[in-house]
Amino acid sequence: MNKMPVLFIGHGSPMNAIEDNQYTDNWEAVAKRLPKPKAILCISAHWYTHGTRVNTEKTPRTIYDMYGFPKPLYEIVYPAQGDPELAKRVSELLGERAKVDNQWGFDHGSWSVLHRMYPKADIPLVQLSIDGDAPAEVHYQIGKALEPLRDEGVLIFGSGNVVHNLSRMNWSMAGGYDWAETFDRYVADRVKARRFDDVVNYKKAGPSAEMAFYTPEHYYPLLYVLGAANETDAIEVFNDDCIMGAISMTCYLIG
Ligand code: ZN
Repeated sequence: MNKMPVLFIGHGSPMNAIEDNQYTDNWEAVAKRLPKPKAILCISAHWYTHGTRVNTEKTPRTIYDMYGFPKPLYEIVYPAQGDPELAKRVSELLGERAKVDNQWGFDHGSWSVLHRMYPKADIPLVQLSIDGDAPAEVHYQIGKALEPLRDEGVLIFGSGNVVHNLSRMNWSMAGGYDWAETFDRYVADRVKARRFDDVVNYKKAGPSAEMAFYTPEHYYPLLYVLGAANETDAIEVFNDDCIMGAISMTCYLIG
């Protein structure tokens, strides 16, 4: 079996689940180019917990962890199966760290993107939570520990946003504020140069890092993806735009 690439998607608004735009077009195009995964392991910004959790259910439910959006968004059901075998394998790879937690389901960080990439929902999906108590380096190391899954047909899929500062968002603004563009470019340049340490230690970016996000849950999924990357992987950046002042849509396909 060929080695699977790893993917980070800047998911932006939950409305991307149903709206057509250049970003969702590119998500769909990437899905068509990728080898069909045997299963997907999603690290979503929206499952942010104490400790690392993994869902082991056969049929996790779709959950609607967003508020005030139009009704059609709450009518989407993403009926992918879970994958208890993959969840078990994740637990093996992560050891003591990963605890079973079936209180959560498929959140909008996963389904708003996968509904577009794999609308048939015919690929089993497991979510792994982000330990909000762990420093950036730990998330990168967890990604490294998950790397063998790439040889087992699993798509490691991080869903977040490199820049995500809702309190600074400006709905009528087309691009990003200078600090948003600066931070997004800092990360893209370091990823392309394989200076992953500088992405983990993102505060090196200077003042723009202070503004890019106030809480890191949307940033950390990228660190899992970089952790699972190899020296020889090709690195592709797409959707590299900031929107609404304070959101980056930038995506990374590695491998
Ligand atoms: Zn989000």
